[in-house]
Amino acid sequence: MRTSPRLGLNNGVLIDQLGFGLYKVPAAGTADLVAAALDAGYRHFDTAAMYGNETGVARGLSPLLGGPAGSGGSGELSSSLARGDLFITTKLWNDHHGYDAALRAFDTSMVNLGLDYIDLYLIHWPCPAKDLYRETYRALETLYREGRVRAIGVSNFQPAHLDRLLETAEVVPAVNQVELHPWLQQEELRAKHATLGIRTEAWSPLGRGQVLTDPGIAGIAAAHHRTPAQVILRWHMQLGNIAIPKASSEPRLRENLDVFGFDLSAADMAALAGLDRNQRTGSHPDTVN
Ligand code: NDP
Repeated sequence: MRTSPRLGLNNGVLIDQLGFGLYKVPAAGTADLVAAALDAGYRHFDTAAMYGNETGVARGLSPLLGGPAGSGGSGELSSSLARGDLFITTKLWNDHHGYDAALRAFDTSMVNLGLDYIDLYLIHWPCPAKDLYRETYRALETLYREGRVRAIGVSNFQPAHLDRLLETAEVVPAVNQVELHPWLQQEELRAKHATLGIRTEAWSPLGRGQVLTDPGIAGIAAAHHRTPAQVILRWHMQLGNIAIPKASSEPRLRENLDVFGFDLSAADMAALAGLDRNQRTGSHPDTVN
């Protein structure tokens, strides 16, 4: 069973367009929630060193990858699922910028996740005051060339950060994971990504749940007999975004993945485009260091 279509990254690697985001999923409950998400059909998991739940992700994946529950995941094939069916993203935290520090951070994440390779490794924030993201990215390029990660990218990079990175980068980032939802549509950044061959990945795709109550979305949801979350996620899919909604229960996980059986009309898409307020729910990337 695969319930999300996959998109090609700029190096040919395929990524599930809809994944499960694990920020603020408590470490203790992570393994069970990952197992529930797998059962619901999720194959793409988005974690980070900062989330403190990489080992929980490993425990959740482990039984389906052939290891006993809680073993940390062996990466071996099992009768039900192959490692290649999964797409695992993790991210380098702000306290590990710099070439050597980045390599060490990656090693720690690999141990935590118990995997032989990671599908996508991202610089979590550019941390412009540190001014080390180009050097940090050079370490990601090393890991990519060594085959320890199938694709590399960035997160929270503003246009100016991308421009500066691309002055020295040898590998164009496969994705830029940024805050993106109907209240913060990032049109300029999405256009830039399209020009550069970078996939746009939406974090907080539901605006941390706050956008679900927007009356403009309620009307469209009612017309399609769908929930507001499904309308917003369907909007992401039709825009070509990768989206990684977080949910804490199996019914919500299933609801969020069930967005491939209906289409929003051009009028719906135009109405949703009109909801943009340039309003963030998270920090501005220039201020995070
Ligand atoms: P989301 O936009 O995914 O919203 C999550 C919130 O919406 C939770 O409160 C959740 O509630 C609620 N929710 C989810 N599904 C439904 C539903 N069907 N009906 C009603 N409510 C629902 O916000 P996040 O901030 O969690 O972002 C998603 C992911 O993006 C993160 O988990 C992380 O992987 C990534 N991220 C990356 C960042 C970065 O800097 N790169 C920053 C922030 C996030 P409940 O949990 O109670 O079910």
